[in-house]
Amino acid sequence: MEELKSSKTEALAEIAQAIERDNVTPHLRATATQLVFGVGSPEAELMFVGEAPGKNEDLQGEPFVGAAGKFLNEMLASIGLKRSDIYISNIVKYRPPENRDPTPEEIAEFVPYLKQQIAVIKPKVVVFLGRHSMNVFLPELKISQAHGKPVRKGGQVYLPLFHPAAALYNPAQRQVLLDDFGLIPAILKKLS
Ligand code: URA
Repeated sequence: MEELKSSKTEALAEIAQAIERDNVTPHLRATATQLVFGVGSPEAELMFVGEAPGKNEDLQGEPFVGAAGKFLNEMLASIGLKRSDIYISNIVKYRPPENRDPTPEEIAEFVPYLKQQIAVIKPKVVVFLGRHSMNVFLPELKISQAHGKPVRKGGQVYLPLFHPAAALYNPAQRQVLLDDFGLIPAILKKLS
């Protein structure tokens, strides 16, 4: 087990090094403070994938540490989980300037590395936070319809959710996100 743990940690570190070595999105790298690769347990059953780092994430080098991250932590606590129980990352791993949406080209450049990250962690469920990450894997779906419904594709279970930043200041969406989050324990149990 220890051996497995360290080999996953090493494999993740190699992916992070590859992003820098391959000079992925050099224009974003030039304006970002640092690479925001991902944090959490490499043994996690749940892997969350957001969109791209914002200002706080760029400064701290960790995904979801701002207001959306605080809400995410509350939702995790509501189902008895801590951040150290899960793995959390973004598609785009350098902050886009002024918090603009990442472009399709920027997303496309990062997708191979995100796929490698998922392949190393082998989570039971990949949870998409928002439509951008969902669209990478399930382009045919609309988040308004697909949220809260697990989808099995190519041997992997995915769960699309609303993005916590979008839901934060929208009371109706916030409640939907909380309700969808509440489904996670039963989804995991069904898969065990
Ligand atoms: N929003 C994201 O999509 N990712 C983060 O890391 C923070 C906010």
